[in-house]
Amino acid sequence: MPPPPLLLLLAALVLAAARPGCEPAWDPAGGCPRLAAVDSATCVDLQLRTCSDAAYNQTAFPTLLEHRSREVVESSSEYVLLSVLHHLLEGQCNPDLRLLGCAVLAPRCQGGQVRRPCRHVCEGLREACQPAFDAIDMAWPYFLDCGRYFASQQEGCYDPLEKLRGGLDEEEALPSGHPATFIHFTHHSYAQMVRVLKRTAARCAHIAKTYSIGRSFDGRELLVLELSSRPGQHELMEPEVKLIGNIHGNEVAGREILIYLAQYLCSEYLLGNDRIQRLLNTTRIHLLPSMNPDGYEVAAAEGAGYNGWTSGRQNAQNLDLNRNFPDLTSEYYRTASARGARSDHIAIPQHYWWGKVAPETKAIMKWMRAVPFVLSASLHGGDLVVSYPFDFSKHPQEEKMFSPTPDEKAGPSAWTLVPLPPELQMFKLLARAYADVHPMMMDRSENRCGGNFLKRGSIINGADWYSFTGGMSDFNYLHSNCFEITVELGCVKFPPEEALYTLWQHNKEPLLNFVEMVHRGIKGVVMDKFGKPVKNARISVKGIRHDITTAPDGDYWRLLPPGSHIVIAQAPGYSKVIKKVTIPARMKRAGRVDFILQPLGTGPKNFLLGPRRNGPGGAGPHGEPEEPGQEPLGARRLPEASGSKPWWWSYFRSLGQHQPRWLLKY
Ligand SMILES: [Zn+2]
Repeated sequence: MPPPPLLLLLAALVLAAARPGCEPAWDPAGGCPRLAAVDSATCVDLQLRTCSDAAYNQTAFPTLLEHRSREVVESSSEYVLLSVLHHLLEGQCNPDLRLLGCAVLAPRCQGGQVRRPCRHVCEGLREACQPAFDAIDMAWPYFLDCGRYFASQQEGCYDPLEKLRGGLDEEEALPSGHPATFIHFTHHSYAQMVRVLKRTAARCAHIAKTYSIGRSFDGRELLVLELSSRPGQHELMEPEVKLIGNIHGNEVAGREILIYLAQYLCSEYLLGNDRIQRLLNTTRIHLLPSMNPDGYEVAAAEGAGYNGWTSGRQNAQNLDLNRNFPDLTSEYYRTASARGARSDHIAIPQHYWWGKVAPETKAIMKWMRAVPFVLSASLHGGDLVVSYPFDFSKHPQEEKMFSPTPDEKAGPSAWTLVPLPPELQMFKLLARAYADVHPMMMDRSENRCGGNFLKRGSIINGADWYSFTGGMSDFNYLHSNCFEITVELGCVKFPPEEALYTLWQHNKEPLLNFVEMVHRGIKGVVMDKFGKPVKNARISVKGIRHDITTAPDGDYWRLLPPGSHIVIAQAPGYSKVIKKVTIPARMKRAGRVDFILQPLGTGPKNFLLGPRRNGPGGAGPHGEPEEPGQEPLGARRLPEASGSKPWWWSYFRSLGQHQPRWLLKY
């Protein structure tokens, strides 16, 4: 994706004259006069491209910044800022901030009066978006001064973001060529959900595709949107992630958030967002917004805001889908003490099929067989916490009790007898990748909803919370290569529409951060000496009684915390190969570790011991340097050496003497 033609835009803009005005940089004493009451105005058509999706279509001159014509507005540094803000903030806070700025640069005109945008909207955005500005060392734009250019509700203000939360019908009326980021933060009926997913796949046809994994009991397609650089196919060594919403039909926040996420990923990819392009170019992401569309219909009939605890939870057969998976956890506990007992790829017991198996459950199991998933999250509602397996308690009376998986209790360093600190256990790392960047999960104030999970950092072992059998997460871990966590998104299971936008804002970064975790640990290919892939080879890690198996192309992914690990590859008919790998603490890209297996009775007698101890240079298991592009936002964009301007200044350089010095902090 080439960068947008910003330079052309800037070159055209700089030709026009600047306008007089009152900016902090020009008046350090802050002596700008307060805006006088607005008198009658002449309304004209709003023709600014950057503001074409505003909630109104009439504006007036002079503007609130005293710009006297459209040309003057277009040549202003304020307008240039709005045009590039999306790129500067990597998609954060947009289109909201742009629309807020438009409300000042191109004020709404109605009935011969200029109307000012609401102060409380400005204040809310400023609170939410200030960190994004801090991260790139940019000052808050002076023209988004909430006290100065905005009005109170008593003064008859309007909400410039109203349309963002409006109904789907308006979407049909949008002008073509409209920016692709327009997400409607509303509830979606089944038909609307299908339409949005299909439309998103059409808009991003080169990176997105919809497919059905089966039908619900009442015959609704279980529709998945897949995003990757080559949709429709598994690519060698590209890890696969699934995100599942609405397994309980009345817990709808996850369903909506995944519908928004689908549109967000598509739009951001098209807009050239580095992080999203990197993510989708290296990861195959499958979104199933609704696993229980029949239950949703029952809950939706009672309406948003209804906080009934169970209506619509089950599928149309009255089965709780998160209790309907094979109970392999009991199987695991029964055999765990036996020598050589394993906690992976446990077969489904025959008697499971004698019971009622929901078509939705079957569809998920079939899906898991077809795709080599590495990581997964199931999105619920009713509390605010991230839980990780096991969900079924090992307590003999099934009372709640900390019941960790082998990936947690036995540290990967167990073979060296060094106890593993809790913060370096894989399931905790996965849960924290979500909770640690979720503003409400980390909120220490009284605003926080739900049980008191704050002391635990808003993460908990499922069985330590409450125990149940037949859950989807336990099944993922014990039957497949996939690690799944459960996210409780908030206390209200069916939130009112006006809460959806905030829910999305709170969960967007946690979801991205979580999905990026699929690149932790190691990955590689297992092949024979002729280079032929070996499928179903076992990858074991000493100290963790949980193997991963290779996919049909011989590729595998093993999520592992930082540290040293002994990794063993083996397959029937071949001798074992053992390697020692060291994963540096800050490494955010899976280290590549391939294995070449020798047929039994030939080749080197037993195994190749390849101690690949790496120096402190942050190298991967094969000595490759850490990828610099994987640094978190902020770390990479520290202020430059004294005297030089921040990286984003180049966007404004061509404005000459009209450069927005008011954006500079130093
Ligand atoms: Zn639930």
